[in-house]
Amino acid sequence: MNSWLDAVAQVEALEDLHLDENLVASMRERWQGLSGSQVGRINFYTPSFRHHETSEVSACGKNAFPAISITGGECKLQCDHCKAKILEPMIPVRSPEELDGLVDQIVLDGGRGLLLSGGSDHQNVVHYEPYFPTIRRIKDRHPYLQIAMHTGIATPEFSRGMEDAGVDVAMMDIIGAQDTISQVYHLRRSVDDFEAALESLVSTQMKVVPHIVIGLHYGEMLGEWNALEIVQRHLPSALVLVVIMPQYASQSRPFATPPTGDVGRFFMDARAALPDTPVLLGCARPAGVHRSITDTYAVMAGLNGVAFPSDGMLALAKRLDRDVFVTPSCCSMIVGEEVLVLGEESGAKPLDHIPEAPRRRAALRDIPIVVSV
Ligand code: SF4
Repeated sequence: MNSWLDAVAQVEALEDLHLDENLVASMRERWQGLSGSQVGRINFYTPSFRHHETSEVSACGKNAFPAISITGGECKLQCDHCKAKILEPMIPVRSPEELDGLVDQIVLDGGRGLLLSGGSDHQNVVHYEPYFPTIRRIKDRHPYLQIAMHTGIATPEFSRGMEDAGVDVAMMDIIGAQDTISQVYHLRRSVDDFEAALESLVSTQMKVVPHIVIGLHYGEMLGEWNALEIVQRHLPSALVLVVIMPQYASQSRPFATPPTGDVGRFFMDARAALPDTPVLLGCARPAGVHRSITDTYAVMAGLNGVAFPSDGMLALAKRLDRDVFVTPSCCSMIVGEEVLVLGEESGAKPLDHIPEAPRRRAALRDIPIVVSV
């Protein structure tokens, strides 16, 4: 293949995209110089919490990994980019006893894991402590149930509490700019506090999956590279990248949509910085054409996973000679904007052919799904 743009042109679903030719050329050049255990493989996750079906992947429609908020829809922090909206679709629980009963029902319904989340206090702490004994009992009762917890800023003691409770996966957002912490999060915390929290989490046996939100400073890139350096210093199990969704912000403090080129350049830098760590693109990213271009750059930059892949991504990855795998929704742990890595990509199936991606999404309903998972 002479050019990666030629590869894009061969995927009908992508033929109307306007890509930055210089960026694509530099992605190709950088790709050729990369080496590392995580360079070359890409996994497409098909989540279960909402309907997602393209011509290439099918959703099994089972909510195997529900998200639970221990504060319902309440969050004291009210960050400018979220205003607690991320909590709204989650199942609310208000006490450890309520969580205990809910989990039994989730297991009965075939659930394989769950995400515990919740709103923060004014210090960016989510108060899970009263839940730790219950989580321990739940894990003892259902040892195969995967439990992920989205923390705010964790202390070493808090991190050990999570570990002792049996939490499998710890997640937190890493913020690399003081102005973003002060202005977007309204927090009197420092970048060092976020780094110390990551350090305490990775010192446990838990899998740790930090997130970097691209465009977190009102849509501008500010602390992303510093956050990447923090992640580089503490080497977690995986890194998830998401792109800010401006529609959640209030009109009084609007967010811009980060340009796709900037997002793509950051993908490249993240890949180069962490050649031996899985770097994944999470569900949260602006929709429409922006999403298709973002996903295209994620594949070109060599990220290891894409949740909710746009139409054409599997075909593109195959045409770029990547080792392509598909993880069905009942095996992938994707909740809200979270993509988690479970074991050795449990349930991932290799894709050994280039799928045909039809041009018009409207016509997809009549076309058989080509990837069986
Ligand atoms: S990002 Fe987290 S802390 Fe901030 S408003 Fe949303 S739920 Fe609250």
